[in-house]
Amino acid sequence: MKIFETLQDWITFRDLALNRGQEIGFVPTMGALHDGHGALIRESKTQTELTVVSIFVNPTQFNQSDDFEKYPRNPSADIEYLTNLGVDVLLAPKQHEIYKDKNTFKIQESEDSTILCGAFRPGHFVGVLTVMMKLLQLVKPEKCFMGEKDYQQLHLIEKLSESFFLDTKIIGVPTVREPTGLAMSSRNVRLSHEGREKAPLIYKLLKSGRDTQYIREQLEQAGFRVEYVESHWNRTFVAAWLEDVRLIDNV
Ligand code: AMP
Repeated sequence: MKIFETLQDWITFRDLALNRGQEIGFVPTMGALHDGHGALIRESKTQTELTVVSIFVNPTQFNQSDDFEKYPRNPSADIEYLTNLGVDVLLAPKQHEIYKDKNTFKIQESEDSTILCGAFRPGHFVGVLTVMMKLLQLVKPEKCFMGEKDYQQLHLIEKLSESFFLDTKIIGVPTVREPTGLAMSSRNVRLSHEGREKAPLIYKLLKSGRDTQYIREQLEQAGFRVEYVESHWNRTFVAAWLEDVRLIDNV
């Protein structure tokens, strides 16, 4: 696996690959990799010729600075994980290169980003859309693979690609779960043993087909601090805090 930390080195390599006519598959991540990321990578390896994974903990999408600081980081385990999966390229850019403009240019969406996570995490999707615009321009992938676990994000990146006439097809990949049903997430490692046992209740309730009010009540009774239980785009979405960890899921 080739590892690029400076953008110019990556761009030189990328242009050679594109000139050879190789199709690039892209999996953007924030690291602390798990089998949810693995599913996206496997899909990219099946569908494209050169799989590029990025690891960039994007500061502008964290609306609370302690969440950014506490975000799990595990670079050596990530490199081993990616190497074992046969990933071709790891792009691990530095903050000062990605935000050379000091974050003075931003992408703002004013409809579907205002509900759900957008309503509870002010500025979050501006950060996500802005960094994704930069990464898609840098990687120039034929296909970009994103998880349905973050369905609102997937939906907004599809709209971004369409709205700015990007040449990238956005491919959604179903949520990968623990055997308990809990959606895999980098943040799960911050849950205590008891938290890990309680957290699968979210999926159990989502799957029950009960109405959103019932799901909210059950979660609150179990000690979750619920942000939302809402239905949109033919799906039901939950965001709830357990201990000091924010968990999201949808079915
Ligand atoms: P993250 O590193 O959390 O920013 O996630 C990077 C990508 O992996 C995003 O497209 C996520 O939706 C996706 N992802 C994270 N967890 C899962 C999961 N459990 N199943 C499928 N995709 C996931």
